[in-house]
Amino acid sequence: MEYSHIIIRYGELTLKSGNRNEFLKKLTKNIRYNLQGLKGFHIQTKRDRMYIHFDNNDYIDKIIEKLKHIPGIHNFSPVLRADLNIDKAKKIIDSLLNTKLDKNYTFKIQTKRSNKHFDYNTNELNNIFGSYVLVNYPNLKVNVKQPDFIINVEVRSEGIFIFTDFIKGVGGFPVNTSSKALLLLSGGIDSPVAAHTLQVKGVEVEMIHFQSPPFTSQDALNKIFDLTTKLSEVVGRVKLHVVNFTELQTEIVKRIPSNYTMTSTRRFMLRIAEEVAKKENCLAIATGESLGQVASQTLESMNCINAVTNIPILRPLLTMDKVDIIKIATDIGTLKISNLPFEDCCTIFTPKSPKTKPKLEKIVEYEMRDDYSELIKKTLTSVETYLFDKNGKVTTKNMEIEKNLQNKFSELL
Ligand code: ATP
Ligand code: MG
Repeated sequence: MEYSHIIIRYGELTLKSGNRNEFLKKLTKNIRYNLQGLKGFHIQTKRDRMYIHFDNNDYIDKIIEKLKHIPGIHNFSPVLRADLNIDKAKKIIDSLLNTKLDKNYTFKIQTKRSNKHFDYNTNELNNIFGSYVLVNYPNLKVNVKQPDFIINVEVRSEGIFIFTDFIKGVGGFPVNTSSKALLLLSGGIDSPVAAHTLQVKGVEVEMIHFQSPPFTSQDALNKIFDLTTKLSEVVGRVKLHVVNFTELQTEIVKRIPSNYTMTSTRRFMLRIAEEVAKKENCLAIATGESLGQVASQTLESMNCINAVTNIPILRPLLTMDKVDIIKIATDIGTLKISNLPFEDCCTIFTPKSPKTKPKLEKIVEYEMRDDYSELIKKTLTSVETYLFDKNGKVTTKNMEIEKNLQNKFSELL
């Protein structure tokens, strides 16, 4: 079927009426970015919806696949357009119903008319098109309450738009319409999904990863690079900070009683992350924690971990079920990367029986026995920063280069 347009509906975005223009600009830019390399279409942004017009249908399937993942799109419909003329609209309905001849379907006509100058009102239009279908398609019957499909007819000043499908988008807000958060990215399944859910809400997400070479391998780090690459596909560019955690982690394991090393490790990760967050103007730290999955993810544990910082800690997956998390990971393409077997620093140093209900007084007492400030400083100087786009690593730690790229990045989005 030759679709002439896709209508994009914004959904949640409409709530933010004050920022609407800025949001629409960013959404349009992000759609253009995601459709780079595809040809034969142009985008028209209106207050309440957006149109993608096609010169030909060569790329429509690819475009539909891309649109499903772009934050700020609530749903969209491939549509056929007729000029403002009843007979032309009937012809379009014919081409739509070509695919509905194999069974006895039920249908309903649903007309919307924003163009008040058109000759017929909504009821008249429903009758005209309904009778037309009934007369010409004996296998179709009307069912107003529960039809097999709805023929939507929208009469607007730009023409008559006819379609049957609403394809679900991810919803949320356009990318980078909110401030920044720093996300603790591990090689597991959860944290990339946490990053994605924040990106969908318009949060600009920077990543921080803790590695402990030689206990963790280059393969494990490459996995983090691949996850970051994947997470930058829709949004443009993503920053990744890699912390060399070996020395600090080894000291923690030496000095802290073994059933508390995991709690302490997490507390030190947060201390480091907080410093990086401040330097990068991130207003929150985020993790992939989900309540009750493992020892570190009880409320007692979160309480002990949170106590080292005042910065808000976002846990977007907190109440989600693992099956739903895995479904998102599959959809966004991170699952197969996360499933690669390379060890994470936390897994390697995991004690045999970590405390599921650690006590804050105890962990504070254990950590007070030694002075870690020099080690923290040293660890902070080890941080390497990389910038990624959908093709992989763009640059490494040189701060000047990074600044220039960051400026370019802001222009891009
Ligand atoms: P994930 O699948 O995200 O690894 P998980 O269920 O395996 O989560 P944990 O391994 O206990 O849970 O990690 C909890 C959270 O701590 C992770 O979601 C991530 O945000 C953070 N985290 C764990 N290890 C690291 C690491 N090496 N570097 C950065 N963040 C980490
Ligand atoms: Mg993990």
